[in-house]
Amino acid sequence: MTPTAEDRRAPLVDTFGRIHDNLRISVTDRCNIRCFYCMPEDDPGYLPRQEILHYEEIARFVRVAASLGVSKVRITGGEPLVRKDLPRLVELIGGIPGIRDIALTTNAVLLAGQARDLYNAGLRRLNIHLDTLDAARFQRITRRDDLGRVLAGIEAARAAGFPVIKINVVAVRDLIEPDIVPMARFGREHGFEVRYIEFMPLDHQGLWDRSRVLSMDQIKAMLEAEIGPLDEVPDPDPRAPATEFRWADGGGRLGFIASVTKPFCMNCNRLRLTSDGKLRYCLFAIDETDVKGVLRDGSRDEAVAEVIRGNVRSKWIGHQINTQLFVPPPRPMNAIGG
Ligand code: SF4
Repeated sequence: MTPTAEDRRAPLVDTFGRIHDNLRISVTDRCNIRCFYCMPEDDPGYLPRQEILHYEEIARFVRVAASLGVSKVRITGGEPLVRKDLPRLVELIGGIPGIRDIALTTNAVLLAGQARDLYNAGLRRLNIHLDTLDAARFQRITRRDDLGRVLAGIEAARAAGFPVIKINVVAVRDLIEPDIVPMARFGREHGFEVRYIEFMPLDHQGLWDRSRVLSMDQIKAMLEAEIGPLDEVPDPDPRAPATEFRWADGGGRLGFIASVTKPFCMNCNRLRLTSDGKLRYCLFAIDETDVKGVLRDGSRDEAVAEVIRGNVRSKWIGHQINTQLFVPPPRPMNAIGG
């Protein structure tokens, strides 16, 4: 179907009326740690390097997506900092008209050596994945002894001047309970916004089970019992995945990403580009659309734009985790990106 001039200018609206202006880009499926709820200890079956999009290809895709209304970009992985020269990609994306916000999700193991360059390249928002401050539990979760390097990375990010540092905690039941309150205290003491993320069925090995989900309400109750009351913050952007709260005593803010117990799909504004050039309209999508082909076969930008529009037009209503219909996505989390 040949898009009209109006189509070419129209924002990316799906059949449920949701406008898509937020793009998550996985720049690699590789990672330097092994969180058990994400990937196996050995042989994660990484994508061949020649399949991975070059920074120029990613920048071109973002430029086309920006012309369709995308304004926010989050860089993810695997672990994005294992990819060489990431500040160059941040600069490329930062120079694209229409892109007004760039964020990065990292495990911070390599951040100490890269924080300043990323900041100088224009990055301003960081989400750092850290489930515990306990070295033994860190090792048990990640199968690596890198807690010290993560904390050094966080310190380097603060020293570099990052105004927004959020800490992502994946809340797995019968594991993370001893960390719930200490992580909140860590956030209060250092001015970080802690985000508790409900455990989602995205791991390689199919470990997920509803009984392992520690819900937003349960975590909130634990925090209020130990620390004090939380007041819900009116949502500045209802399409943002986190439900935000602030401590009644002025101790800062925290958030919950309750994808399982309080799905927010009807407000979804996100698209995902995988490191091997597949466009996914949902974290849990079964189908995905190849864009590497049109990025590499000499096609014009309009062909790339039409692939993006087509993907959004085909977007489903949302994940089916809470129904009998749920089928885990054919790609593990490290190959999709947060
Ligand atoms: S599960 Fe899919 S549709 Fe729902 S909010 Fe997440 S990405 Fe959007």
